[in-house]
Amino acid sequence: MRQSQLFTPTLKEIPNEAQIPSHQLMLRAGLIRPLAAGIYSFLPLGLRVKQKVEQIIREEMNAIGGQEFLLPALNPKSIWEETGRVEAMGDVMFHIKNREELVLAPTHEEIITFHARQHIKSYRDLPQIWYQIQTKFRNEPRPKSGVLRGRQFTMKDAYSMDSTTEGLDESYDKHESAYRKIYTRSGLNFFVVGASSGAMGGSASQEFMTESPFGEDTCAVCENCGYAANIEVATSGIKAVGKSDTNGEMEKFETPGTRTIDDLINKFGIDEERCAKSVMYIIDSKPVLILMRGNDELNEEKLTNALKATSIRPAESSELSQYSGAEPGSVGPVNLADKNVRIIADDLLKGAGGMVSGANHTGFHFKNIDLQRDTDVTEFFDLRTVLAGEPCPKCSTPLRVVNAIEVGHIFKLGTKYSKALNATFLNAEGEEHPIIMGSYGIGVERIMACFIEQNHDEKGIQWSAALAPFQVHLLGLGLKKSENVRNTCEKIHDELTALKIEVLYDDRDEMPGMKFNDADLLGFPLQIIVGDKNLSNGNIELKFRKSGERTIIPAENLLKTVQEFLQNA
Ligand code: ATP
Ligand code: MG
Repeated sequence: MRQSQLFTPTLKEIPNEAQIPSHQLMLRAGLIRPLAAGIYSFLPLGLRVKQKVEQIIREEMNAIGGQEFLLPALNPKSIWEETGRVEAMGDVMFHIKNREELVLAPTHEEIITFHARQHIKSYRDLPQIWYQIQTKFRNEPRPKSGVLRGRQFTMKDAYSMDSTTEGLDESYDKHESAYRKIYTRSGLNFFVVGASSGAMGGSASQEFMTESPFGEDTCAVCENCGYAANIEVATSGIKAVGKSDTNGEMEKFETPGTRTIDDLINKFGIDEERCAKSVMYIIDSKPVLILMRGNDELNEEKLTNALKATSIRPAESSELSQYSGAEPGSVGPVNLADKNVRIIADDLLKGAGGMVSGANHTGFHFKNIDLQRDTDVTEFFDLRTVLAGEPCPKCSTPLRVVNAIEVGHIFKLGTKYSKALNATFLNAEGEEHPIIMGSYGIGVERIMACFIEQNHDEKGIQWSAALAPFQVHLLGLGLKKSENVRNTCEKIHDELTALKIEVLYDDRDEMPGMKFNDADLLGFPLQIIVGDKNLSNGNIELKFRKSGERTIIPAENLLKTVQEFLQNA
């Protein structure tokens, strides 16, 4: 391909709207252009990369027996009402009201289950893995960071259908290994974390993450043993508070003006560990008092999952006073005004004694509280957010807490959707059962953007041979002046093309400096630089984009050198 004929509008300056390197470089290298917030057009070079990512995904999905579908983006709203997801998705779902009510699909569990219901009748029809690479629509509230969070984006979504839970385990494991291959072939540095199944309501779930300061997810990671978990489920090896040495009788004491744990620590010299912080939430319309250790942060996702809640919110201070009988700051588990308040506590407080907590009497606290002896708390859950430096739950090495971008997610759905949509099969005994399902997603554009986040320098992108729009950039210098350069470039272009090596020939009548800058910005793995001076000695220059290394080789060795490099790139 000749660059003079290629539409690739490169930009020298960093566009104002782009805050992160991948977004800046995708704009500067002419891979994408914005149309509206979170909506992007792919230009020819960007599309070539996207198609390469899709092909890697397709090959690995086919290798585990996946069958490719293409489901419509335009869906009848009624199917989504059958599973209650019109409500659950809320504003994220795009609605169309014309002659009939339609929605733009943000994912496809409903539609897959609809087709399974039509055609899967017996355990003999199972297992199945159906997938597609298709456009999704989500009205993301804060579309930013370029294609990392689009309102229209491409997802590979796959769905497994099995007749037994062992079958589901097998389908899930196949996807996990396919995903590892996909990210490895794409050249991403990634890690896999245990995740919360959240609203999907399944039993197991893992996310594939790439570390990035711009990631919207937070994960706890152990460098030593490989433990990694989304902060929504991460635990640490931190020890339970336990009893104190001075395990006396519970005693009320005056604490005027005390509103926070830090007040208790600073004004009364109480050990942070011995403070039981009380937080009140309204969970599915009922008040719940939650006891946490000292200044530990309550994780709302853990709370939601622990209580299998559908709606949670922190109580207003008026509600806190109403249920506890005291002002905020003096609330605790002993003598609550409203005996119907459910009290739960974090696991670290199991068996705790010698604790200090609000007395439900404004300006007073209790000390020497023994949770078992003095309160009605019987329910303990892991509710706290893990902090950096805490010991790994598996090997005790201090944990790192990092930001990360989710590039894929695999779920064991179970029978949530098959039950809701009545997709059943008959087992060997002739009994009817809902199909057991899994759901598996990959963000195609996120792979592209995350690759760029991990592989760039101040000059531009550093593509791998697997994802590069072209593998070789052929730069002809001083083309107008030198017939020798012109002819040599034409010959190299044709020979590489005949070898099925993708080459972009910069045949533009531009200064060498401009060609070098554009080549580094576009970032193909190998640059072949043909100039009159080297050529007059029978030589050609090569530049390896990732290492920045340059070398001059005899022209007759060129094809062999290029082939060898690309085989290992
Ligand atoms: P996030 O928490 O980042 O919003 P999600 O949990 O909503 O992601 P899934 O519903 O599991 O994502 O979708 C599967 C995959 O699709 C994600 O792992 C991600 O790679 C990609 N993806 C999700 N939302 C977007 C988006 N708005 N733009 C681009 N890719 C996305
Ligand atoms: Mg989302």
